[in-house]
Amino acid sequence: MSQSSTSQTPESSIVPAIEIKGLKKTYAASKKAPAKTALHGVDLVIPRGSIFGLLGPNGAGKSTMINILAGLVNKTEGTAKICGFDIDTETRSARASIGIVPQEIAMDVFFTPFQALELQAGYYGVPKSERRSMEILEALGLADKRDAYVRQLSGGMKRRLLIAKALVHNPPVLILDEPTAGVDIELRRQLWAYVEKLHAAGTTIILTTHYLEEAEALCDRIAIIHQGNIVANEPKSTLLARLDKKVLRISPVEPLTALPDALSDLNAKLDHDGHIVIEYRSGTDSVTGMLNRVKDSGVSIADLRTEEADLEDVFMALTYAGDAE
Ligand code: ADP
Ligand code: MG
Repeated sequence: MSQSSTSQTPESSIVPAIEIKGLKKTYAASKKAPAKTALHGVDLVIPRGSIFGLLGPNGAGKSTMINILAGLVNKTEGTAKICGFDIDTETRSARASIGIVPQEIAMDVFFTPFQALELQAGYYGVPKSERRSMEILEALGLADKRDAYVRQLSGGMKRRLLIAKALVHNPPVLILDEPTAGVDIELRRQLWAYVEKLHAAGTTIILTTHYLEEAEALCDRIAIIHQGNIVANEPKSTLLARLDKKVLRISPVEPLTALPDALSDLNAKLDHDGHIVIEYRSGTDSVTGMLNRVKDSGVSIADLRTEEADLEDVFMALTYAGDAE
């Protein structure tokens, strides 16, 4: 598939940030739980320069995928490359190419934020002259906490410190696993603003989330993962158009027993209560037009309401065919 490298081609234009092929993970059975396949052979390419959202409900396999890239979980099958470096055969270069902000806040509480960053820089072999610990603390609003003990920091500060730690080696790719789960609105805004700033400065951003609004607000491309399978992977605008499915529910004065023939070309059906249910797209279909069609077919309208598809409906729709569980 990939061409053998020619030194003429600019690397960034051909090498994706992440290239995952046939990635499978089965967690072994334990006394408490049977074996669990969290990833079923995932293929995923994440282009450089994107803010990429990996969106899926709890248990979908997001953290498993991120933790495999981070070297924290061993994959069962498949390959993964980070900026072209294979995580098995070019592990050091692969690790140097990403910073990972884990979902769980687990930190050594005996260090100050400044010490924690210096230590992390040491792990990555960043020479003292190239360290930017203070600059990073400042960027994340932690400058005045440089000498505080980590255990004295608030939850929000700890989360920002985790981001700071992921940045010490200046990685071209930053992965944030559920960065705003349990974070208040003000901090969420700050984090989003900072992520956008990093992106503008050239960092490829990958974030996992189970909030559609978060992926929608930040990402230019979104993949949806559900039960260990990627079920969609497209530009945000395409995906949102797909989510743009709405339902118009019309209650006639007299419940209907059959749908008027005149409405057969609308995406309409009758529900159990004799109401008309029409699926439509708010971007393209006109509600007024549909209502006029219903009136013209001789139905007197008593009441109406519209309903939006939520994320769970979308997962259902996308995974309807061929679900294993
Ligand atoms: P997400 O991050 O999308 O919420 P995870 O990757 O954490 O999903 O989990 C995917 C599935 O794998 C879930 O069913 C979860 O229970 C299971 N799982 C995750 N980690 C482990 C583990 N260490 N041992 C066994 N099963 C696990
Ligand atoms: Mg997770």
